[in-house]
Order: sequence, then C-alpha cells, then structure tokens
Amino acid sequence: MKAALVGTDGTLLHEARRATGRKRGADAVVETILAFAADLRAHGEEHFGESAVAAGVAVPGIVDAEKGIAVYAANLGWRDVPMRALLGQRLGGIPVALGHDVRTGGLAEGRIGAGRGADRFLFVPLGTGIAGAIGISGRIEAGAHGCAGEIGHIVVRPDGPDCGCGQRGCLETLASASAVTRAWAAASGDPEADAADCAKAVESGDPAAVAVWQDAVDALAAGLVTALTLLDPSTLIIGGGLAEAGETLFTPLRAAVEERVTFQKLPHIVPAALGDTAGCLGAGLLAWDLLSTEVSA
Ligand SMILES: [Zn+2]
Repeated sequence: MKAALVGTDGTLLHEARRATGRKRGADAVVETILAFAADLRAHGEEHFGESAVAAGVAVPGIVDAEKGIAVYAANLGWRDVPMRALLGQRLGGIPVALGHDVRTGGLAEGRIGAGRGADRFLFVPLGTGIAGAIGISGRIEAGAHGCAGEIGHIVVRPDGPDCGCGQRGCLETLASASAVTRAWAAASGDPEADAADCAKAVESGDPAAVAVWQDAVDALAAGLVTALTLLDPSTLIIGGGLAEAGETLFTPLRAAVEERVTFQKLPHIVPAALGDTAGCLGAGLLAWDLLSTEVSA
C-alpha cells in the first residue's frame, strides 16, 4: 500500500509504504489500512503542525464510491467493507472519500500528470492486468455499477487465450505486462524472463523478442482503437510496468494505432507521468474535492 500527505495543490508532502498483510485475511487488510491512515495523520500533526482535514482512500475491485463501500476485491478477499465509515471513525470524524484504484490514479494523471489540461482522456495502466479510467471534464466516469473503463476485458481475439473473467482473447490476456512476461518466458526458453527483459531484447534487435512484442502491441492497438472509437479522447495515457519500456513501446504503438484508424481522430498517446504514486495522489485529490464540495454546498 502507498499512502501520502497531499497539499492543496496536489503536492506530495510525505509518502509512505506498507505491506497489506493480506495473507492474514481481509479483516487484517482493513485494519492495516485504518492503522496506516491514523499513523499518517499523526505524522502530519508532528511534522506539519496540523492534522489532515480530509482523507481519501483508493481500493481495487468493485467500489461503491457513493455509499463509501469497498464491495469486492478478489485479491484482498473482502466483501462489502464500509470503508468510508470505518476510516471516518478512526480519523476523528474528518470527511473521507472512497475511490477505485485505477480511476483514482486516472484522476491524478488527468489533473496533475500526463493528461493535464485534457478535457477528455483515457488512462490505461498495463500491469498484471489492464484497466482503464475514462476522464471527462475533470472527473472520472464510474459507470452505472462502478465498472466503467474495463478495457482489459475488451475481446480483441475471439479465439485467444481464456481469461479469468470467463471470456476468451481479452486484451489483458495478450498485452498486459504479465501476458508479455508469459509469452517471452515461453519464446526465450527462460522461465525467469519477464516483460522488461523482453523490451531489452527488442532494443538489441532479437527477432524472437520483436515478434512477441509486436504481437502485444498489435493487440493493444486493437483494444485502444475500440476505446477511442467509442470515447473520442484527446489524450491516451498509457502507464503501468509495460510503459516503462518508453519509446520501445510508444513508437510501435502509435504506428499500430495510426494504421488502424480510418475516420477516428488520433489522440495524443503519451506515457503516464506519476508512476505508482498516481493512486495515492488521486486519493488526496478526492479528499480535497470533498472539502470544496462541502464548502460550496
Ligand atoms: Zn477478460
């Protein structure tokens, strides 16, 4: 888990990391979050002379932001955790905002990161899986059921590999960092080889690596073109582990997207700027938003 004290303008004042403790079960994770938040608040009092005035927390899975409930997260094992109420109690009754991890990260990239100034953007982190955040006029679209932006489960190859979601050939089975790791481990014969090794091999001109890489880039371009056909964003922000390959990813990706579009307008395709602090910066922005809402209400 990453946490931070965030200033009014999105400045990172203090950052900390802690293990979730998920091996000890969902209750332990919730307790770790509450204790972490309380410790962070105490740090603020001690080092900045004042207490945090609001808190934001971003969690994975399905989130009911309106009710403040962390509904479900497969990797953490919880169901219907009243996160907002629990955190509010632990933090002495200050306002608490609850958000979804990827959408919250997208909020930060859109406001203070790579999408700064973009009215319509799509943020797509390529990590263990692939998710997405749809940015519209300074906020992130959550969908009717809190499930909007799941671009990783757009089917790009109907005869492709089985996906954990029950479909076949989903984008994330082909173009996530995990998918590239799997493909390159198989192609290179080195079970320890990962996506970053594949990128390095591409840079040194290894044809087998280029084939694995291009296959992922083609799948990614297909998924992104579906998304941009639907959303018409001005900016596509690509983040996560795979984006760390820099131009090794972005040069062929821009070319592959360009090749596919016909009538659609090409968005700017840019790397994410905030790295893995996007989520906790976004949670800070959610907390500040809460105050400005309350003041104006
Ligand atoms: Zn899927």
